[in-house]
Amino acid sequence: MPAFDPVAALVGFLLALPTGTLVEYGLHRFVLHAPRRSFVTHRHRMHHKANAADTLWGDFRDFFPGMLPFCWFGFLHSSSAGVGFVLGGVTYVFVLALVHKLSHERPRLIFWMEHNAHALHHCETPRHNFGIVTRFWDVVFGTYANARPAREGSSR
Ligand SMILES: [Zn+2]
Ligand SMILES: [Zn+2]
Repeated sequence: MPAFDPVAALVGFLLALPTGTLVEYGLHRFVLHAPRRSFVTHRHRMHHKANAADTLWGDFRDFFPGMLPFCWFGFLHSSSAGVGFVLGGVTYVFVLALVHKLSHERPRLIFWMEHNAHALHHCETPRHNFGIVTRFWDVVFGTYANARPAREGSSR
């Protein structure tokens, strides 16, 4: 069995974080807001209606399955990178749950984004602001909104 490689593990850990932001964006936009109804879209619709975060543990538990289809990426390189990547993924899901909770309850603490970014996603512009931790992918894919949209017709 090859020896544990701390550098590969650290690189795997760090790569999991940006990967997490993209997975979060993609799943939120295309799975949670999929036009086809499912248990997942229904649950997300309920979250939009309630407009409140669950407990930290509740959100962590809800978001965690989203990482499972991707958590093997690091093992393509080595078992050390694989372990690092999984740990990075778990860390990211925790950060995601925390930022989501703060976005609802203490939006002013989300200083690196417009404070109302997630509130807008819940209300006026559900087709925008899919990113929770970062607005980066919303900007890249043209779904960022920081004010009420000028045009009518955005729908959930
Ligand atoms: Zn949503
Ligand atoms: Zn929310």
